[in-house]
Amino acid sequence: MIYIVIILGLIIGSFLNSFIWRLYAGESFSGRSFCPQCRAKIHWYDNVPVASFLLLKGRCRYCKKKISWQYPLVEIATALLFVLSYLQLQNNIFDLNYLLLARNWLAIAVMIIVFVYDFRWQIVSLLVVVPTIIMFIVFNIFLSFLWWQILIAGLILSFFFFAQYIITKKKGIGEGDIWLGALAGVLLVKLDSLFIMVFLTYVIGSIVALTLLLFGKKKWGEKLPLGVFISIATILTMLYGTTISEWYFNLF
Ligand SMILES: [Zn+2]
Repeated sequence: MIYIVIILGLIIGSFLNSFIWRLYAGESFSGRSFCPQCRAKIHWYDNVPVASFLLLKGRCRYCKKKISWQYPLVEIATALLFVLSYLQLQNNIFDLNYLLLARNWLAIAVMIIVFVYDFRWQIVSLLVVVPTIIMFIVFNIFLSFLWWQILIAGLILSFFFFAQYIITKKKGIGEGDIWLGALAGVLLVKLDSLFIMVFLTYVIGSIVALTLLLFGKKKWGEKLPLGVFISIATILTMLYGTTISEWYFNLF
C-alpha cells in the first residue's frame, strides 16, 4: 500500500508542476505537456516523475535547455508528504479515515502550489485559494466540525493577517496572504492549531530571514514572501499540531 501512495504522490506532484506553470503562463489546463522553452511536446517516457529528470540529466531532450529543479523537488515533496499523512492516519488501521486522508492530501497539493508560486513570483493566487476555502469548509462539515466554528477559525486567521497588513502598511504582506489565512483557518479549525500555525509561520520565517542575512543573500528590510512560510506552517500544523501542542504543554 505504501508504494501505491508513493507512486500516487509522484504522479500528483508531476501534475502540480504542470498546473503551476499553466496557471502562471495562462495556458489551457488541458492538452499534452510541452517544454516551456521550445514548446516541443513531451512524450510519456520523458514525463515520468523524477526518473526522467535524472535520465535527461535535467535538460530538455530537444532544445537541451535546463529543466528547473522545481520539477523533481515538487514530485519528491508531494510523495513524501502524502506518505507522512498516510502513516499518521494509518496508526489505527481499522479506522483509516479516508475522508480525512483525502482532505489532507488536497491540503498538501494546494499548499505546494501556493509555496512554489509565492516563492517564484511572490504572488498568492486567489484563483487557487478562494475555491479551496469553500472545499475545506465542505470537507470539515462532513468531518463533523460545526459550520460556525469553521467560519470563525477562518475569520480569526484572516483578521490576524489583515491586522498585520494594516499595521505594517502592506509591507511584506499582500492581500493574498489574508485569503491564505482564511484558508488555513477553515482547514485547521481548532483554536490551539491556529496558534501553533501562526507561531510556526513566524519561527520558520525568522530562521530563514536570519540565515539569508548571515550568508549575505538578503539585506535588512528586504521582503520575503509570507505565503511560503504560511504554507509550510499550515501543513506542519495539520500533520503534527497535536504532537507539537502536547510537547509544548509537557514543558511546564
Ligand atoms: Zn525544450
